[in-house]
Order: sequence, then structure tokens, then C-alpha cells
Amino acid sequence: MVIVMEAGASAGQLSVVLDRVTASGFRPHVNDGVERKVIAVLGEVDIDKVELLEQFENLPGVERVNLISAPFKLSSRQYQPEDRIVDVGGVLIGGHQVVIMAGPCSVESEIQIHGAAQAVKEAGARILRGGAFKPRSSPHSFQGLGEPGLKLLAEAGAATGLPVVTEVMDAHDVELICRHAQMLQIGARNMQNFTLLRAVGQSKRPVLLKRGPGCRIKDLLMAAEYVLCEGNDQVVLCERGITTFEDAARNTTDINAVPILKELSHLPVVLDPSHSTGEWRWVTPIARAAIAAGADGLIIEVHPNPQAARSDGRQSLKPARFTELVVQARAIAGAVGRTL
Ligand code: PEP
Ligand code: MN
Repeated sequence: MVIVMEAGASAGQLSVVLDRVTASGFRPHVNDGVERKVIAVLGEVDIDKVELLEQFENLPGVERVNLISAPFKLSSRQYQPEDRIVDVGGVLIGGHQVVIMAGPCSVESEIQIHGAAQAVKEAGARILRGGAFKPRSSPHSFQGLGEPGLKLLAEAGAATGLPVVTEVMDAHDVELICRHAQMLQIGARNMQNFTLLRAVGQSKRPVLLKRGPGCRIKDLLMAAEYVLCEGNDQVVLCERGITTFEDAARNTTDINAVPILKELSHLPVVLDPSHSTGEWRWVTPIARAAIAAGADGLIIEVHPNPQAARSDGRQSLKPARFTELVVQARAIAGAVGRTL
């Protein structure tokens, strides 16, 4: 349930409503909103919400009360009708401008990450990606450089003026990673690691939340809910391909997810065509499709020498191909009334 206050409602009226919500056994969560405050009524209390709705509706300063039937509340458009803008070290995601994040799958060496950072910056990327803690299907594969990798990533970001996004796999590492990165990535495999979601929520750092390959759109929004209810509204949703019966590509890009998520939620939506296709040749066409479908951004794997990459080389673009992707993405952004 959400309680929408009148545009001119006073602080006193708001506090009466909040007290009444608490007295009914629920937790109020206030969205300050641009025009009017909206209060989400959260909790597990099993009572007749319709009766409660009438009580709240009659309080002074209340414009209307809506029942939200979906299980996701704080991530829903009913709670916040306006698009959420997420600020990653000064780069705004979710506004008019489409944002491209790019860089290697893994940070491998100083030369590699600095070369990649320089190349993606020159091509037009605005956020640098790179994994230091890598979730690999096999324990025998390269697991990432860990803390030294984080430091190299942060240095490359600082040298190019790009904020950085990197994956956090364990709640115990959140503090460490916050010291080096402007945005925390929750990888697809950890989308439903609820302890981790709460920890990144408490950090208040912007979060890039990737959809699990076997998870539905509503599961992704429930995962976002975990971060939001810790008081962190800086969440970007990422479609990165799902598992289907189709095995011609590494994953299947669920392009539907872009307009569906934009309709259901106020959170920005980006697409990762590198992981959703698994093959560099298909990355640019799917990147174009994502922007045409209304994505607020892209995250792309770029490596100075993909043949030598220690992870995901097959789906990584060489810098020159990435430059071409940005040119094409900019044209599509213009065609749908946005900038890049
Ligand atoms: C990655 O970004 O390199 C990664 C491991 O992504 P995902 O969690 O989507 O597989
Ligand atoms: Mn990768």
C-alpha cells in the first residue's frame, strides 16, 4: 500500500500519518518525491488492508491511498512515479543521456587496465568496469587479482577521470571495495544473496544489480527491494541474458525486460550484451537493440588484446570495435530522442 500526500501537506500532517502507520503494526518508508511525499506501508502484518486504506484516506493531508498488489513496493512506479537518477561519482544514470560503462572482464595487470581505461574513455565510455573478485564457474579458472586488482582499477579510473564499477562477492568485502570503487556490482550469481544485498544497501554506494540467469523480472525487482529497504535508493538494474533452451549463444538476451522493467519500476535499466550473447560479433547489434528498446545504458567488456584475456576474451571487444559500437549507439540514442 502507498499513501500519497497532498502537494501542500504539512510536516505535522505527515507525522500523524506516520504514527498511524506504525501504530497499525507497519513500517512507513517515505519517498520525498519531486511534488509530493509518498509513504510506502511495509510489513508482514496480516490484516484487512482495505479497512486500513479507508482509515488512512480520511487523515488530513492525504490525497489518496493505493494498494500495490505486486510484492515489490519500493522499486515500483507507484511508490515513485518519476525516473530515479543514480549518481555514480558525478555520472548520472537514468536521465536523458545514455551512459556506457566499459572495460575488461577482469583486471589483469597495470598495463592492461590502464590501456583499457584510456581506450574506453577516448571512445566515449563514462564509467570504467573491471573485476578484481571474479565469480567463476570453475574453481580452477582465474579468480581475479583481489585487493591489488582493486587498487589498479582505482588508479586507472583516477588517471582517466572515470568512476569505476567492480563486483563485490562477499558482504565482508563491501567496506574494502567502497574504498576503491564508486559503484558496487552484484553479479548475476549473487542476485539472491540476501545478506550481500542488505550489506550493499547499508553501504549507500550506488549498486549495479545484475539479473540472475534463472531469475524472473519480478525476482530481480525483489532483489532490488532488499537494497532499497536498507535506505539505499541508488540501484541500477542490469539485464545480462537468461538461460533458455536456446544454446546457440551463451545466454538469451531478454530484450523484453527493458521496457517491462521501465514500466514496473522507477530504477534505471542497463543491458550487458557481452554476457547476454557471449560472442563479440553479436555485442554491437544487441547493444543497438537495447538502446532502441529504451535502456538507460550499456555495460560492455573491452580488452586491449582479447585473445590473451584471462576471462571472457571471446565476448570482449577490441578498442577499435568498441569505438564503432559507441558511434552506432549514439545514432540509435538520437533516433529515440536521447543523447549519448
Ligand atoms: C561480469 O560482469 O564479468 C560478470 C561476471 O557478470 P555476470 O555476473 O552477469 O555473469
Ligand atoms: Mn565477464
